[in-house]
Amino acid sequence: MDFRLGEEELALKEEIRKFAEAELPPDLVRNTVIDGEFRDFEFEISMSRKLAERGWLVMSWPEKYGGRGASLLEQTVYEMEIAYWGIPGAWMGISGIQWVGPCLMMFGTEEQREKFLPLIASGEKDGVWCTGYSEPNAGSDFANIRTRAIRDRGDYIVNGQKVWTSAAHRARWCWLAVRTNPNAAKKHQGISIFIVDMKSPGVTVNPILNYYGRHHFNEVFFDNVRVPASNLVGEENKGWYYLMQSLAFERRSIAPTTYGSLKRILEDLAQYAAQTEYEGQPLSKNPLVRAKLADLAIDLEVLKMFAFQLAWRITQGQIPVYESSRNKIMGDDLMRRGAITGAEILGIYSQADPDSEWAKLNGAVQGAYLGFPGQAIAAGTAEIEKSIIGQFRLGLPKSY
Ligand SMILES: Cc1cc2nc3c(=O)[nH]c(=O)nc-3n(C[C@H](O)[C@H](O)[C@H](O)COP(=O)(O)OP(=O)(O)OC[C@H]3O[C@@H](n4cnc5c(N)ncnc54)[C@H](O)[C@@H]3O)c2cc1C
Repeated sequence: MDFRLGEEELALKEEIRKFAEAELPPDLVRNTVIDGEFRDFEFEISMSRKLAERGWLVMSWPEKYGGRGASLLEQTVYEMEIAYWGIPGAWMGISGIQWVGPCLMMFGTEEQREKFLPLIASGEKDGVWCTGYSEPNAGSDFANIRTRAIRDRGDYIVNGQKVWTSAAHRARWCWLAVRTNPNAAKKHQGISIFIVDMKSPGVTVNPILNYYGRHHFNEVFFDNVRVPASNLVGEENKGWYYLMQSLAFERRSIAPTTYGSLKRILEDLAQYAAQTEYEGQPLSKNPLVRAKLADLAIDLEVLKMFAFQLAWRITQGQIPVYESSRNKIMGDDLMRRGAITGAEILGIYSQADPDSEWAKLNGAVQGAYLGFPGQAIAAGTAEIEKSIIGQFRLGLPKSY
């Protein structure tokens, strides 16, 4: 197989480079996806609108829903480039773009597609979603969710609590997992997915500051929230199946973005090492520094191949299961190693706040360092992903 990019992909890369150079302020804080959002919502929305205007935001969607029918391979190149340049806004609507939209195309009604897909594709505030899966007693053990939805004539009434809900304070819509049948023989059988308007009476969003003081997460309470039955996604009690697909979409998107962010960090670190003297010689002559950067460069190439292979398999109509988990583990681990290597090379400067005059690489290493533990938990911890690989790649019995 020939892995070189074609003319169209190379042209896209070039267009994105020009866009980034024209639109991004030189001192823009450059952070990883997990850490990088929600700093300046207005700026991020203005950028996501511009990405939408260029037909990039949801490029692989059909034209009638706001995309341009690009291949998933092209979209993968786009995701890598956007992350490389640290363009904010592409991930503001990450839930909507990466999994809600694709799931609605697979399982939604035509009415839902016509209403929600163009909103997501617009890059506007009303197209921002959050994802309501985790609860105080349901994280890895996702099937344990207790938030309930009970049918009441033309509506469902939702009661319960979600936690760690990224961007709920920005979102107009929630992709919500609830229990519709508490008496199902198995826990995962009584779950459904709903689209909930975050402006509905009875929805309360409380901020949770993460361990470095940023408002990324929230807890969300649902108190007798009325949701129209037309907002049920697919069939009642079949939500588990949709959720597995949704998580596979989410995990797929991690490798391209991690690759893009880390590639830039690696290139910048190499340049920094070449320009910075330590004990009378450039850091780049230190064998340890060279070896660590080379190690990262090797594994980044592997991650890139994994990202393209997964996208390619999807374009062939296959449904990759363990590959999304493999890519997620690899991406998370590389982000950890890249952040630690960056901190070792920058030394004390890596701890400087991105806005400080002492910050290097626009805060990219600090962002990676603070963000990697969260990235490794979101969308499934390494233990859960390895368990999936054991089951679906190695044929081991289900572990839980
Ligand atoms: C940055 C970030 C963003 C997030 N955004 C969202 C969001 O938008 N919406 C949302 O719903 N949730 C979100 N989450 C929550 C996330 O999905 C959960 O934190 C994750 O699923 C783990 O669940 P938990 O925190 O309850 O930990 P637990 O499930 O309690 O796990 C604790 C530890 O036990 C291990 N463990 C658990 N079960 C097993 C098992 N069966 N075998 C082996 N080891 C096991 C885990 O690997 C982990 O190390 C986010 C989390 C982070 C960090």
